Amino acid sequence: MLTTDEITAMFTDCGALLQGHFLLTSGLHSGQYLEKFRVLQHPKLTSGLCREFAERFQDAGIQVVVGPATGGIILAFETGRLMGIRSIFTERENGKMSLRRGFHVAPGTRVLVVEDIVTTGGSVRECIEAVCSTGGDVVGVGLLVDRSNGKLDLGVRTESLLRANIPTFLESECPMCAHRVELVKPGSRELPV
Ligand SMILES: [Zn+2]
Repeated sequence: MLTTDEITAMFTDCGALLQGHFLLTSGLHSGQYLEKFRVLQHPKLTSGLCREFAERFQDAGIQVVVGPATGGIILAFETGRLMGIRSIFTERENGKMSLRRGFHVAPGTRVLVVEDIVTTGGSVRECIEAVCSTGGDVVGVGLLVDRSNGKLDLGVRTESLLRANIPTFLESECPMCAHRVELVKPGSRELPV
């Protein structure tokens, strides 16, 4: 098993933890941003993290790994490969998270859901619902990063490799705004290296 320090280093060494002034989807501002694809672009790093999921759930009798698109597809693939089982993904169809492409989870199938970074848990919760609606039994959730500040409760055994406490601010109270640091919207343009 990897230690928390080792996992933290895996994120920081590849530049996934960015420092600056970021506009989040919620409208809040933050001085730090976790760019998951800085990690997921490296197969070796990704594989090392998925090995943690595979090890932590090795006695759970998992039969299928499911991840919500987009990051969850990569994690589900690699975790499934390591566990020697099938991996599939959910994606949005008309706004609703669903199993498409002929993916099937038979009733009673023991499922592990994997996801990258969770703040409110919306996507992962919808992914669990999509699996449960077919009769699948979600017995565990593996997360790369839980940044819910301890608020996350998915109702099943959840293993988070990292817990990140990243402060967020209203624009009116944002210290970076006060210092006139350039505001960046992650995903919309080139991020600082
Ligand atoms: Zn700001």
